[in-house]
Amino acid sequence: MIVVMSPEASESQIKEISERLEKQGFKIHLSEGEQRTLLGVIGQPRENLAETLEAIPVVEKVVPISRPYKMASREFKPEDTVVDLGGGVQVGGEKLVIMAGPCAVEGEEQMMEVAHEIKKSGAHAIRGGAFKPRTSPYSFQGMEIEGLKILEKVNRETGLPTVTEVVDPHTVHEAASYSDVLQVGTRNMQNFYLLKELGNVSRPVLLKRGMSATIEEWLMAAEYIMSGGNENVILCERGIRTFEKATRNTLDLSAVAVAKQQSHLPVIVDPSHGTGHWHLVPAMSKAAVAAGADGLLIEVHPRPEEAVSDGPQSLNPEKFNTLMKDLKEVAACVGRKM
Ligand code: PEP
Ligand code: MN
Repeated sequence: MIVVMSPEASESQIKEISERLEKQGFKIHLSEGEQRTLLGVIGQPRENLAETLEAIPVVEKVVPISRPYKMASREFKPEDTVVDLGGGVQVGGEKLVIMAGPCAVEGEEQMMEVAHEIKKSGAHAIRGGAFKPRTSPYSFQGMEIEGLKILEKVNRETGLPTVTEVVDPHTVHEAASYSDVLQVGTRNMQNFYLLKELGNVSRPVLLKRGMSATIEEWLMAAEYIMSGGNENVILCERGIRTFEKATRNTLDLSAVAVAKQQSHLPVIVDPSHGTGHWHLVPAMSKAAVAAGADGLLIEVHPRPEEAVSDGPQSLNPEKFNTLMKDLKEVAACVGRKM
């Protein structure tokens, strides 16, 4: 529930109520607005708690949170969350954040080459999978720890924050020691042990929507990470399973608008997995920005025809550069900077 303090409440009165609730075993999340302070109260409220609190003169009202997710909901925290990726890059503010790079880390040369290219075009972070959860056990499974070390080197050389996928709770801490942002892939969105482990690290988590998950299930997955102590979650729409076969997935751009309405967390879009075809990526990238996305995750490979995974949906650096220029114009139309 949310305790709405009256505009007259003093700092010490707010502190006193917070401490009283904490003593009763609740976790308190403070939101200081221009007019009022809100106390988000996390925990199972006992009977009559709301009435007891409402009897305090400096408490304006107590509002129950209607959604099953609490910390992730906009009711709980009305203002947008801005997630810091490191290197001066922040997602969820006025500035759009473009993360780009190959599906998989294939080697140091490949990563350095693409990092310099995307940086020249204005990208803000580099992606690359070191652990690859593939549909087939015979497909390339990733360079694993070697891949993480390459990402760390790329970050040192270019300053670009790195984004990489984690697939197993046992490697979360090791991955966090090498990479700036930890990605949860679509296949693991409801791997609750992985989500719980991610609650224990301080690195931001890029949480992809499960390919068959509802928006509510996606936000519940965010709640797992946040309730574990890590509030730095970035939501990523990457397409869902439908009957349509012309695209690899159906990119659900309405989910961007819904998630932005129901949650304070930043929402980004992955048009590469969302469509499966490089030639559809520019149109859907522009549409995502127009729909209110806070950023994009785009697969870019120096030579897509040689990529070990997801070549058909990867842009080459030249096409990525053109897209970045076009995105600036769309961003300006919807009041965003790049
Ligand atoms: C990826 O980002 O390369 C990836 C595997 O994505 P997803 O989990 O969305 O399929
Ligand atoms: Mn991929």
